[in-house]
Amino acid sequence: MDLLKYIRNVPDFPIKGIQFKDITTLAKIHAPFKESCDNIINQFKDRGISKVTAIEARGYIWGGVIAYKLGAGFVLIRKPGKLPAETLSETYELEYGTDTIEMHKDAIEKGEKVLVFDDLLATGGTAKAACTLVEKAGGVVNGVAFVIELTGSLHGRDKLDGYNVLSLIKIPVEE
Ligand code: AMP
Repeated sequence: MDLLKYIRNVPDFPIKGIQFKDITTLAKIHAPFKESCDNIINQFKDRGISKVTAIEARGYIWGGVIAYKLGAGFVLIRKPGKLPAETLSETYELEYGTDTIEMHKDAIEKGEKVLVFDDLLATGGTAKAACTLVEKAGGVVNGVAFVIELTGSLHGRDKLDGYNVLSLIKIPVEE
């Protein structure tokens, strides 16, 4: 199935110059949604993964399904101040400024194999920070999975060097 055709490109959202890859047009149709979940599940089954973690909010749509089918638990990574108990936090660079994500300190046991999921890989800053959070908690990142990877000048995959990275749809970034 050509999953790319279900992605809507929205120019100049949320700010001028950004080509926003809208994944809601894939998620709203059962066949491509199921196929995207199944592809990731098939790549990571039988690898002893006991936790799947994803970044709010679109990451949760796939993350929960993948965790359920892998027989794993699900760990929420959220923006600051949203998680109620003690957290670990990681701050990373954006094109302009910085951003921070958080995870509960007791979400992952030492040595647990973890799959990190996000809907889209752009510069890789968010996913790298998520991997760092998992490792701070004592977990071992077994893989990093995305539905969409923006290829070209952003070099997101380079930031994840050393990790096992899977993406289902590769879209070149327009300069
Ligand atoms: P990055 O940290 O640069 O890899 O950015 C990844 C995060 O930002 C993901 O959670 C995406 O949902 C979002 N994102 C970045 N660029 C885009 C884009 N062009 N279209 C849709 N979402 C994006």
